[in-house]
Amino acid sequence: MTTQNVREIRIDPIVPTRSVLISTARGKRPRKDEPSLPRDVSEHEETCPFCLGNEHQTPPPVLQSPASGQWEIRVVENLYPILNDDPIVPGLIPGMQQVIEGYGHHEIIIDHSNHGIALHQMSKQHLALLFSVYQERMQFLYQTYPRVRYILVFKNFGKAAGGSIPHTHSQIIAMPLVPHNVQDEVECSRSFYDKTGSCIFCTLIDEALPLETTSFDRSSGEKHQNYQPGNYFIEQGKHFIAIKPFASRYEWEIHILPLKHQSNFLYATDEEFNDLAGVLKRTMTRLEAVIGEVQYNYFLHTVPHVKNSTDSALSFHWHLEICPRTSIPSGFELGSGLFVNTINPEEAALQLRQINLP
Ligand SMILES: [Zn+2]
Ligand SMILES: [Zn+2]
Ligand SMILES: [Zn+2]
Repeated sequence: MTTQNVREIRIDPIVPTRSVLISTARGKRPRKDEPSLPRDVSEHEETCPFCLGNEHQTPPPVLQSPASGQWEIRVVENLYPILNDDPIVPGLIPGMQQVIEGYGHHEIIIDHSNHGIALHQMSKQHLALLFSVYQERMQFLYQTYPRVRYILVFKNFGKAAGGSIPHTHSQIIAMPLVPHNVQDEVECSRSFYDKTGSCIFCTLIDEALPLETTSFDRSSGEKHQNYQPGNYFIEQGKHFIAIKPFASRYEWEIHILPLKHQSNFLYATDEEFNDLAGVLKRTMTRLEAVIGEVQYNYFLHTVPHVKNSTDSALSFHWHLEICPRTSIPSGFELGSGLFVNTINPEEAALQLRQINLP
C-alpha cells in the first residue's frame, strides 16, 4: 500500500465543474479525538413513533408491506413536510428575485420494524423489497402529481448524517424542479455523449471492472490467467457494481450502478433489485468492517421525469451515491465548494476490497 502523501485537485469526470482536493497529509495532522455521536442500536424504543405498537402516532400508511399481518416496511406522509401541495402562494412580486412555488410531496419510508438495524444487518430479501417500495412510491407520485419534475429518494442514517429520528428510515421528496446536482450530471453526461457517442457512467464502469489477461510462459509453455481488479472496484453482482469515485468528496464515498446501461430507476426489475440488495449488503459490510459504526447519507440519482427526458436516455445512468460521514464540512469546504478528502481514493478502495466477507 502506498504511504506517499498525495496533494492534488481532482476534477470530477462526470461534472467537471466539481472538484475535490485530495490531501492525505492533512489526515495525519494531530487533533483531539472528536466526540463521536454513537448510533442508536436498540431493537425497540417504547417512545419511538416508528416502532411496532406505536403506529397510531404516525399518519395512516399510504403503503404497507406486506399488506396484511405484521408490517416490514411502512410509508407515511411526513408530518413536517419540506414541500407540500397545500396552497401557499409565494408572497414576493418577482423582480431580480426569482421564486418557485414550494409545491411537492414529502413521505417517510420506515425501512424496517427493527428500530436501530443497519443496512448490512438487513436480509437481502428485505433490501430488495425496500427498493421496490421506493420504485412503487415514485411511480405513484409521478402519476398523481403531474407538476412534479424530480423525486429524490434519500436516507440519513445516524446523527452524524443529519438523522433527526433514530429509527431507520428513508425519505422521498417530490419536487417542482430538478435539483442542480442532478441537472449538472444530466447536462454534463449528455455533452460527453454528444462528443463520444458513449455514456460516461458506462465508460467509468468499464475502467473499474476487473481485468482478466492470459500470459504465456515461454520456458515452461504454461498459460497463466491473471486477474487484476480495477483501482476503483469495490464489489460486484450479476447486474450491479460498487465503485469508489475517482474524485470522491467523502473519504469512504461509494457509488452503486447497474452494469448494463439504464437511465431510469423506474425501469429496474425485481430480479435486478435482488442483485442490488446483495451488492449493497456486501458493500455496507465492507464499510462497517473498515470504519465501524457507519453513519451515512445515501441518495438515488435517476433521469428526471421531464419532457425531453428521452434525450438523456442514452447518456444518463442511474446510480445510488453512498456518502459515509466521518467528518463535518469545514468553512473552507462550504466557502469554496472544494471538498477536502484526506484518504487517497485508490487506497480507500484497496482497503475495502481487502475485507474478507463471510
Ligand atoms: Zn423505533
Ligand atoms: Zn451508461
Ligand atoms: Zn449522482
